Amino acid sequence: MRPIARRVGLAASEGAWWELGFKPWVNPKTITTAVAVCNICHWSGDEFIGPYHTEMATCPRCGSVARDRFLLFCFLSRRGYVKNLRVLETSPRMGAGYRSMMRRYFKYTASDYDLSAHEGDIQIDLQAMALPDSSIDILLTPHVLEHVPDTAKALSEIYRVLAPGGRMYLQVPLCYGSTQVPSTPEFHADNTPVFFNFGWDLTDQLRAAGFTTTVLVTQDFADMLNHVTECPTSNGDGFNVEDLVAMGRPSDSSPVADKYIAKVFGFLPAYHYATWECIKPN
Ligand SMILES: [Zn+2]
Repeated sequence: MRPIARRVGLAASEGAWWELGFKPWVNPKTITTAVAVCNICHWSGDEFIGPYHTEMATCPRCGSVARDRFLLFCFLSRRGYVKNLRVLETSPRMGAGYRSMMRRYFKYTASDYDLSAHEGDIQIDLQAMALPDSSIDILLTPHVLEHVPDTAKALSEIYRVLAPGGRMYLQVPLCYGSTQVPSTPEFHADNTPVFFNFGWDLTDQLRAAGFTTTVLVTQDFADMLNHVTECPTSNGDGFNVEDLVAMGRPSDSSPVADKYIAKVFGFLPAYHYATWECIKPN
């Protein structure tokens, strides 16, 4: 694999971004001139590459897309930075540079189901995790659960391996108000089938598994769910926004990114951003 620094054309003198020693946290209030800032690699500039979309708005330095940035933002803004937390991330989209940066600050492990679509340090099936009880403090799991056939089994295993007080930050594509089983075979850019297109009712399954659960959303999305602002019309980007708003559960949601943060870090349009925070009680 070519180094990310070469792929995105960093000046040789700048070196690899993950060697610059940034903590994976940027306080956007300290940014006064840039319009766009990456909270992963600290790049700042006029704009991200591509349109505002959870799978796009790409950072020209580290290659993060908006949902990568939102996941780390949710974790660190809610949990706070604590050195050497045991962090497991399932099938991270980002590669060697991001993982090096995470290892600098956490006991970080990347896993993958079959080590094919994503490289991982270890192979893990969420339905039967080869990890000891209470061995993980933070589980980051972006866009994996929808590919797992037995949701309840996976959630029970995740609960087992999390330490008391440990947290899961869970992202799935949230395009529909309620969970649906795909009527025709569906795949997301690899050969792993999608078993569920989850809706807001995923919260019920997470609570049934024992987690204290809230859905972290942007302030603008929270305003739509609370009918403070009007929701836009679905525009064919895959998100059924009227359905999401109609079936949304404002009391299950907590806003984490105000208008300014959402704009600077590229968390737009608002209804693309939801991360389930699931805490294993002490
Ligand atoms: Zn970046």
